[in-house]
Amino acid sequence: MVKLTENGILRVNFRHSSFNDFRLLCNFECSYCIPRCHRVKPYFFTKFHLLQTKFIWDKLSKVNDDILVRVNFDGELLFDNWAKKCAIYINKIPNVKILELVTNNSFDPDKYLNKFITSKMSFHCSFHPEFILLSKFKENVLKLKKAGCNVFVSLVCFPPIIKKIPKIYDFFKKYDINLRLQSFFTPNFRYLGKKYPRGYSKEEREILRRYYYSQEEYKYFVEFNQTKGLDCYAGVDRIDLSLNGSVLRCCSGEIGKPDNKITIRKKLNNLDITKWVYNHFLNKIYNLLVKHNFSILKVSKIDDLTSGKVKLKRNPYPCHEKYCASDADIIYLKEIRDKYPLSDKYIDMYKMNN
Ligand code: SF4
Ligand code: SF4
Repeated sequence: MVKLTENGILRVNFRHSSFNDFRLLCNFECSYCIPRCHRVKPYFFTKFHLLQTKFIWDKLSKVNDDILVRVNFDGELLFDNWAKKCAIYINKIPNVKILELVTNNSFDPDKYLNKFITSKMSFHCSFHPEFILLSKFKENVLKLKKAGCNVFVSLVCFPPIIKKIPKIYDFFKKYDINLRLQSFFTPNFRYLGKKYPRGYSKEEREILRRYYYSQEEYKYFVEFNQTKGLDCYAGVDRIDLSLNGSVLRCCSGEIGKPDNKITIRKKLNNLDITKWVYNHFLNKIYNLLVKHNFSILKVSKIDDLTSGKVKLKRNPYPCHEKYCASDADIIYLKEIRDKYPLSDKYIDMYKMNN
């Protein structure tokens, strides 16, 4: 059996796509939703996505590492039966020790929790105030906690919500619920005429500074410090894995190479015509495969990893991006890892006990 990491724990961010050419449909339509603002086409999942999930995770079930996985398809997993089946399948794999599910928490846990091994479940519940009442959201969180699941709550810091953060924070604190603020990052669009995080006012920054989970996160996501060249554990004991089988160190960047080989393809993807062609054919291929019940696809990159052809790095190596785009990723910066111990209940959380 191949052992992928030195210390035997691999953290996996399992995604819908490595190119953001499509995403899972969501039951909300938040005004600040980044994939929506980028006009990424949403789809319901099909049997094909489950077959892909099985293909990939059957391979990972054979590696000699424990796995902590975060499942995030950029839509609402609990809204979609096939996507839910993907998560249930991964949850039951023996070397998967934790499955962290990203959800908008709008579904009653009584209706789905019995399908999962709850002792292995963690929930990253993002609170989206345009579509759910705080009271309803809290009720669902408390049900998850009562069932023995680990839960933390996140909130995207889109400008109109910032003044309400102190109240929201206190509300959750009253119920012993951890709130972690999330950056509002608008790389290719404007929100109410401004680009963020640069567009935050002085007053907004002060609120964010007080309530951000750590000052390091505040520095990178509000003050927008650059990460390029800083040592990072992404590609060492943490990978991004997509339904198409591709493996990246984080949301971009090949394993072991401190440059960004996929930039050109990513740029092409930002052109609407390319997206349309890609989505159109991708869907056609999916439908064809489902129709003929294909379960085995040529997915070379996951094969490369599990066969030992591609090896994860043994030591942190320089970040290839000018700015780290995601809170789920930034905690792999050596600077942050050296200061805070990672949580063993979530893949994108750390403990503030130093
Ligand atoms: S809940 Fe999340 S995925 Fe759904 S629309 Fe809102 S921000 Fe987007
Ligand atoms: S800092 Fe962020 S973008 Fe850079 S390598 Fe690490 S995870 Fe990737």
